[in-house]
Amino acid sequence: MTPHPRLDAAWFAEHAPNFSPDENWGDLSRLSPFVPITLQRIRQFYNAPIKVLDGCTPRPERPNSQHPLGLAVDFCPHIKPAGLTADEMQQRHLREWLRLFQICQSIWLSGFGVYPLGSHGYGYFHLDLRGDGAPARWTAYRNDCGELEYTSGIDDLAVQLSVINVARGLKA
Ligand SMILES: [Zn+2]
Repeated sequence: MTPHPRLDAAWFAEHAPNFSPDENWGDLSRLSPFVPITLQRIRQFYNAPIKVLDGCTPRPERPNSQHPLGLAVDFCPHIKPAGLTADEMQQRHLREWLRLFQICQSIWLSGFGVYPLGSHGYGYFHLDLRGDGAPARWTAYRNDCGELEYTSGIDDLAVQLSVINVARGLKA
């Protein structure tokens, strides 16, 4: 197996210029270069800042996670809070999250998880580059009790319910 290139500032400038090594990629020495390359492609269609939330980090509680393998990243719209109230911030995030959601669905990804309401009250996404054939799609949503549940596939109804819960101010 060819070793990964060093994902330093020069590498990012060439291959993923809207990102840098200083973001929350986790262990950059083990992150597949195709993770930032894929995110850069999404960023080009989205044409607005994206925040990297998590990358190559351990997941002892989830043995099948692609994160420790360096094949996954969690991300969300990057909304600058300057001048926004908390409500405005949440509304703008939700709007941008829905726009980013549509762009991600138009791009082929082998693994794609949709989190309309993350633990901090904002939605995010998971993408991974699993190589075992069938693509994986799932939606993690908050039920009426605020508990996290997973559906297989992209569940538009679950997304809508979570969005309604966000709009109602139901925090995770
Ligand atoms: Zn993830």
